[in-house]
Amino acid sequence: MPVPEIFASTVGSASSASLKKPSLQHPPLPSGKAAEEAAAALAPRLFAQAPHSDQEGGFPTEEFGWLRETGLLTAALPIELGGSGLGEPAQALSLLRTLRHIGRGNLAVGRVFEGHVNALLLMQRFGRPQQVAHWAEMAQKGHLFGVWNTEAHDGVTLEPLENGRYRLQGSKTFGSGAGHVTRPLLTAKLPDGGWQMLILPATEQTPALDASFWRPLGMRATASFRVDFTGLEVGSDDLLGHPGDYYRQPWFSGGATRFAAVQLGAAEAIFDETRRFLNALGRTDDPYQRQRLGEMALLVESGNHWLQAAATHEARAADTPNPEASVAHANMVRTAIEEICLRVLPLAERCVGARGLLRPEPFERLHRDLTHYLRQPAPDAAQADVGRFALQNPQLAYRLWHE
Ligand SMILES: Cc1cc2nc3c(=O)[nH]c(=O)nc-3n(C[C@H](O)[C@H](O)[C@H](O)COP(=O)(O)OP(=O)(O)OC[C@H]3O[C@@H](n4cnc5c(N)ncnc54)[C@H](O)[C@@H]3O)c2cc1C
Repeated sequence: MPVPEIFASTVGSASSASLKKPSLQHPPLPSGKAAEEAAAALAPRLFAQAPHSDQEGGFPTEEFGWLRETGLLTAALPIELGGSGLGEPAQALSLLRTLRHIGRGNLAVGRVFEGHVNALLLMQRFGRPQQVAHWAEMAQKGHLFGVWNTEAHDGVTLEPLENGRYRLQGSKTFGSGAGHVTRPLLTAKLPDGGWQMLILPATEQTPALDASFWRPLGMRATASFRVDFTGLEVGSDDLLGHPGDYYRQPWFSGGATRFAAVQLGAAEAIFDETRRFLNALGRTDDPYQRQRLGEMALLVESGNHWLQAAATHEARAADTPNPEASVAHANMVRTAIEEICLRVLPLAERCVGARGLLRPEPFERLHRDLTHYLRQPAPDAAQADVGRFALQNPQLAYRLWHE
């Protein structure tokens, strides 16, 4: 099948990227567990391939072909729409573990995959049934979704036109997968200030990309460019939910557990690679190396306990919702996993030493990628929110998160 060129309009040094449309519809993975196992099986392949897209302007196109072929790009759809039901609260642990496996394969792939999953979950939550069916069909056809909310001073506005359509103006920054995401979910400001989600059919309404924005420390292969939507138009069927839905809690903050799972995957990769490196050098009898490995194992496994706790909390909240507690719990998960990752990094560096930080060893890439990806919005505010919740609730600690 020919590969259509999209996003041909670029500025800066952006390449005119293309998205491979799928050649085949794949059978859906039968369950969340199957998705988790498929991701686990794919991780070593992703890891081996990661150096090849690790460049500014690069993108793991081939890897997304693999995700598509295995059914992972539709796994977050409900089973009745051809997915694996990975978005169901009962599947929360499988979802988080799937994200962790992809993250341990390649953090850049994990970041873009998480955006795709997030968009599919948002459209299921806030879309009308016909819209959900339409976007599910687009996912089945292989379209890559993403969520682009971050912006600078020249953010995106949505102007209603007399013919019932809407005109976009302005830009997003950090648009991960720019040039490859063909159905970006973006947010835009309405004239009355409302914050409206929409899903742009970017194969027809093609934004301009500015790759010169993306000169990062790490995560090069996410292609997180500045994206300019000025002059593009959408119809009312492209609008998702009501103004303000994007920030509705507990879903907005709750989503932090997903990026934390991806981050934890990178910490696992660093742990696994450090152990391989020490084994290869025969440096496994040294008591200090053993102590460091022990500390790293404890940290990584603590992260996995947090994923388990996040999934348990989500399943319980589906029966007895407590949005404030869910937000605070998700903020604890992301804070704990950030801290775990920040502690794993220097332990690994001390283990492998300067020689281990030379390519083709993977540590320098893993270090750059994880350090950059750990910078998520408002880390301190997230922790302060946990404190505020605890101060405002009288329950003793053993009941605080469990009622
Ligand atoms: C690899 C990568 C991919 C990304 N992809 C996407 C994407 O696809 N879509 C998307 O929407 N976004 C994306 N982002 C952006 C991301 O979601 C965050 O918005 C971004 O990483 C936060 O940037 P920051 O650390 O500069 O944030 P900031 O919020 O500026 O935080 C930096 C520091 O400033 C502090 N701070 C925040 N506000 C204030 C204030 N008012 N006064 C004083 N201090 C303040 C914070 O607490 C923090 O300590 C991506 C980011 C990365 C790194």
